[in-house]
Amino acid sequence: MRNGLSKDLIARVLGGAPKYTLEELEAKFPPRDLKEGAFVTRFAPSPTGYMHIGNLYSVLIDFKLAQQSNGVFMLRIEDTDTKREVEGAVDVVKSAMSSFGFKYNNDEKYGPYYQSKRKDIYHSVAAYLLEKGLAYPCFLKPEEMDEIRKKQTAAGFATGIYGEFARDRDIGEEDIIKHLDNGETPSIRLYSNGNPNNRIFCKDAVRGSVSFPENNEDLVLIKSNDGLPTYHFAHLCDDHFMHTTHVVRGEEWLPSLPLHYQLFRMMGWTPPLYIHTSTLDKIDAETGKQRKMSKRKDPECNVSFFLAEGWPTDAVIEYLGNILASGYEEAKLKGQVKTFWDYEMKPKKIPMSGALFDMKKLEWWAKEHIATLPVDVLVKNVVDWANKYGSEDNKKQIADVKYLTAVLSIERDNIKRIRKDFITWKQTLNEVSYFWDFLFTPNREYPYNKDVLREFIATYDENDDKDTWWQKIVYTAEKLGLKPGEVAMNLRVAMTGRTNTPDLYSLMSVLGGARVKERINIML
Ligand code: GLU
Repeated sequence: MRNGLSKDLIARVLGGAPKYTLEELEAKFPPRDLKEGAFVTRFAPSPTGYMHIGNLYSVLIDFKLAQQSNGVFMLRIEDTDTKREVEGAVDVVKSAMSSFGFKYNNDEKYGPYYQSKRKDIYHSVAAYLLEKGLAYPCFLKPEEMDEIRKKQTAAGFATGIYGEFARDRDIGEEDIIKHLDNGETPSIRLYSNGNPNNRIFCKDAVRGSVSFPENNEDLVLIKSNDGLPTYHFAHLCDDHFMHTTHVVRGEEWLPSLPLHYQLFRMMGWTPPLYIHTSTLDKIDAETGKQRKMSKRKDPECNVSFFLAEGWPTDAVIEYLGNILASGYEEAKLKGQVKTFWDYEMKPKKIPMSGALFDMKKLEWWAKEHIATLPVDVLVKNVVDWANKYGSEDNKKQIADVKYLTAVLSIERDNIKRIRKDFITWKQTLNEVSYFWDFLFTPNREYPYNKDVLREFIATYDENDDKDTWWQKIVYTAEKLGLKPGEVAMNLRVAMTGRTNTPDLYSLMSVLGGARVKERINIML
């Protein structure tokens, strides 16, 4: 501890008297009225204009933990890095969250939820630390810090502002006044009492107890250029006053844990429980090896990719849910739960490293998901997707919703045998494209048996029920000395251009008599 500053000097150092005392802040943000065991979580993105699939994974953990414990999930915008700010970036986050169905509950009482609007709170806590001698104003200029770094590097010391290198650590009131009179604005630094020869024990909900050397760096709490807090300090104040119980964040923050514990202890506050998540990996298509997903190389890193390509958002969530709670798939297959929202996930089981995001696996989840949808829901999703992201051709496909519904109804009537070849909304339209004449490409390569086509068309009546229709195929087959399957195959290819399609009778009924005849005539 060092000498605390006088109230007047604190006001000068911070560019204004603090608005609140600590007691006032505690009263302003009282404990939440929640049942015991309720989780209070938050997604706290820095608005960069990009929503990474890893962010979505993180949101899912936050949201799920709050949902299954009747807790609270908040969205907090960490916009204290004014240099990195991007126009419209918050909308990117909010619209991605809403597309995937994540609602947050930002109770006004604990707001504001933009860090840039919480300066009063940070400055009030900083004032307390300055008064207690737990923080100090630092007037080091960037050039001076560069010099220090060079010296440290040359001498083989750890870089940073600590101990003897922290020039202003014990700065007196007189010197502070001199700097201020000179028009300089200080940063506010932690007066660290940590000793790296000692170890500090911290808790991570996934990793258990982890120990680190104590932190001895006098880290910046409030920046000199804009008076805004650093992540470390903002996190301390916000997660305390918002009563966050669980901080879910990327593993890149794990090394900061000793500092965060130090800050909470210094304030006499209980730290939240931390959950550091692993980054998502993928299997590299070229090397076949597992590697981190890359913003530069992998389009699927960007959450907007899944929306634009028409992946069912629920399936993406189901799959991410299975990555973070590996028992989920089994529980679902056994019919113990219907969706991830019914499954209780355990924070301890969240993967610590190497969580693999595999597009092939996602396909399975997507097929299973689409197979469960009633046809009107499937149609609505396809139509909404095409309106927003589809090509001109896709828009023509959805123009006649009745026809589209008939097309997509094929092989959906028998719950036990629902077709599972639809993966995305985009691919669904592509898969059934032959139903539209302008997209149908006749298959002229196929070695048709023209007698089959002639015979069929001679007997064909579009009003035939399935039995009669089949009898005619059998009759044609007998007459020509073929198997019924061979007759059907000739018709299938003539109708669709493909050898593999859903039920032929159903698809001919949807195509209608005129199209059926026309397509056969093309081949004749
Ligand atoms: N803004 C921080 C980030 O984007 C948040 C980390 C946290 O959730 O505490 O990494």
